[in-house]
Amino acid sequence: KGAQMEPGYDLPAMIGMTEAEVQTPALILDLDALEANIALMAAEARSMGVALRPHAKMHKSADIALMQIAAGAVGICCQKVSEAEALVRAGVGDVLISNEVRDGVKLARLARLAGRARVAVCVDDAGGVAELAAAVAEAGTELRVLVEVDVGAARCGVAPGGAAVPLAQAILAAPGLSFGGLQAYHGGAQHLRSDAERAAATAAVVGKVRETLAALKAAGIAVPCVSGAGTGSFRHEGASGVYTEMQCGSYAFMDADYGRNLDAGGAMASPFRNAMFVLAGVMSKTKPGHAVCDAGLKVMTMESGLPVSAREGVVYAGASDEHGTLADPGDVLRPGDRLRLIPGHCDPTVNLHDWYVGLRGGVVECLWPVTARGKHF
Ligand code: PLP
Ligand code: MN
Repeated sequence: KGAQMEPGYDLPAMIGMTEAEVQTPALILDLDALEANIALMAAEARSMGVALRPHAKMHKSADIALMQIAAGAVGICCQKVSEAEALVRAGVGDVLISNEVRDGVKLARLARLAGRARVAVCVDDAGGVAELAAAVAEAGTELRVLVEVDVGAARCGVAPGGAAVPLAQAILAAPGLSFGGLQAYHGGAQHLRSDAERAAATAAVVGKVRETLAALKAAGIAVPCVSGAGTGSFRHEGASGVYTEMQCGSYAFMDADYGRNLDAGGAMASPFRNAMFVLAGVMSKTKPGHAVCDAGLKVMTMESGLPVSAREGVVYAGASDEHGTLADPGDVLRPGDRLRLIPGHCDPTVNLHDWYVGLRGGVVECLWPVTARGKHF
């Protein structure tokens, strides 16, 4: 057994290892749950007659993006040019950067990338359109450009209504740019706890989209796509009749925060399963009711709260850089035990890791790189 056959250095596991042998802390995937989530969202989109363009900022993985596309997704979303570059290099053929890009070098990179894949980007002012037009003219490529509308997030985007009209006209007038439609996403609406709150928030979002569509229609401009929606609200956008494409991301993995969303019946029952965990190792058990694991702030972000233990009766009670303190009232844990933790928020947690360890039936089936880890530029 040579050094290359053992975990360590860069690798948290080897194919064929059991879950109990995976080197902790590690980012692990339940492949059955992941496949079920991808198939379920694809089926939901199909049944609503809406295209699915999953957000890859969540998983940053070319392997998972290609699984989503194989299941029927029209392409993927990215948030950053470098994220898109990494995924296109790995074989993804259709990317929407659901974001504004305003930097000369980034624009040149984006325009070049459009020579290698079908690429779209968002814009929210006239200067942005002019910069995109100049970049594609220089590169000799074509870009699809969506006008972002601020539908309630108070982040990027033009005001709902007529403000989108001159931008769409400028895009239509620019050689090398095509008008891709509207980007209309409201992140805060996803995490409202009751379905009634999410329905009401999404109704307000849809109203703002309709107002914008009416202004574009009055100006004689056809809108080929309205893109938005996330894991918390997609059924409402999907049923609205105005959205043509959904950008859900977290559904593939889920996290503890999404686990607290309630369905229309007030139950905790999300149709999506937890597919991503941080696998921790128990490293200390010195007193009754208490244990310590090796997964802390460096392997999970906690802005959406502490991780939730997947093991019944064990509570993740506190985090420091390299440790997690566990309440273990039944004293079920032993040093060396593995413990699956459901992180509070999937997206930023993934970005802390180099590898996914894919497990099926308790055995490591694959090791996938977090392809676009650190690609924030
Ligand atoms: N679209 C955009 C523009 C986003 O910023 C996000 C996430 O923040 C999503 C889609 C995906 O949302 P979710 O992970 O809640 O499904
Ligand atoms: Mn998120």
